[in-house]
Amino acid sequence: MNRLLLNHYYQDTPDNLLMQFSDLAATKTNIIDLSIGDPDIVTNHAIIQQAFLDAKAGHTHYTAANGSPELVEAIIDYYDRTYDISFQSNQIFASVGALHGMYLALQVLLNPGDEVILHAPYFSPYKEQVIAAGGVPVIVPTYEKDGFELKLDALEQAITSNTKALIINSPNNPTGAIFSKETLQGIAKLAIKHDLYILADEVYEAFCYNEPFHPMVQFAPKNTLTFGSFSKSFAMTGWRLGYVLAPDYIIEAIGLLNENVAYSAPSISQRAGIYALTHAETLMAETKDLFAKRITFINEQVGKIPFLSMIETKGSMYAFVNIRKTGLDSLAFAKKLLQEQHVLVIPGIAFGEAGEYYIRIAATQSLSLLAEAFEKIAQLTVE
Ligand code: PLP
Repeated sequence: MNRLLLNHYYQDTPDNLLMQFSDLAATKTNIIDLSIGDPDIVTNHAIIQQAFLDAKAGHTHYTAANGSPELVEAIIDYYDRTYDISFQSNQIFASVGALHGMYLALQVLLNPGDEVILHAPYFSPYKEQVIAAGGVPVIVPTYEKDGFELKLDALEQAITSNTKALIINSPNNPTGAIFSKETLQGIAKLAIKHDLYILADEVYEAFCYNEPFHPMVQFAPKNTLTFGSFSKSFAMTGWRLGYVLAPDYIIEAIGLLNENVAYSAPSISQRAGIYALTHAETLMAETKDLFAKRITFINEQVGKIPFLSMIETKGSMYAFVNIRKTGLDSLAFAKKLLQEQHVLVIPGIAFGEAGEYYIRIAATQSLSLLAEAFEKIAQLTVE
């Protein structure tokens, strides 16, 4: 999709209004920003220190195109010791963040007209990336009454002879849902039966609050592409490092395409990534504990405000809050909250129509700022 097409696309959809909303937000100062999925904390000091020591020692060059052998080894070791899943080095590609990996994967997998199923509410770049790769996004809604769990019958009904892939995101942005093991197994069965790829976005792996994380790949190894990231688990968004785990022929194609795009992920970030993965148990637990406290706090606060409600956040760093009682749609609510109380949240419509009567609150601010934000939200005048 070229730029002209992109503009055209925005004109006819609520995205146009969303752009107006983000323009409005950009003009505001002194707001409490609960919109962004970027942990407020600085990357753990030990990771930074190791990366800079490694840079000083000469790790300032291009690395092997698919990632340095040491990083690839660290990823293999992490999956082996954490999930008892074995990967070979030719099944791994170090990307410039998960989003870059997803983009490359869709570019190599899709032919024009191939359908890709997304469960809604969805992380909005998926839809744009599918279109940019010549594909057709097919949306399957999920519902609050089901805990935003993807229903297998709805998924199967959406599969046609043109379906090439499914994008699965659990723990989910924006709903905070974690799909059960049975659902993941069911998705895997369907993918195997219909010969589909599963693009499993697992960037919130570390954020499962009361249940274990189940990597999709264990249920359908030949069909699954896993997208992992250092951004959230290790508070490393700005380092731009992630990875794709996939069958070797896909990794080969991704690597070939990327040689014309980014050559390799940043060397210093890869060094940081090696340290992070080697100490993943401690480091991920620190991030998770911090966010667990904030998520619990947000869940409690929402419960105290009569015009808001939500189901418990099981995973991710977000609360997906139902605003239906206010009589406002998500854009109108978010605009009012911004203008009257100077609190910025994401209108649910940004995640597709399924999010029309929701807002997403990111737990990416301190407890004291969150408390301040909720005092303001409570003062909002709604019918
Ligand atoms: N996938 C999901 C579901 C996300 O929410 C985000 C960031 O918000 C990303 C991918 C991007 O990850 P990365 O920073 O590794 O590109």
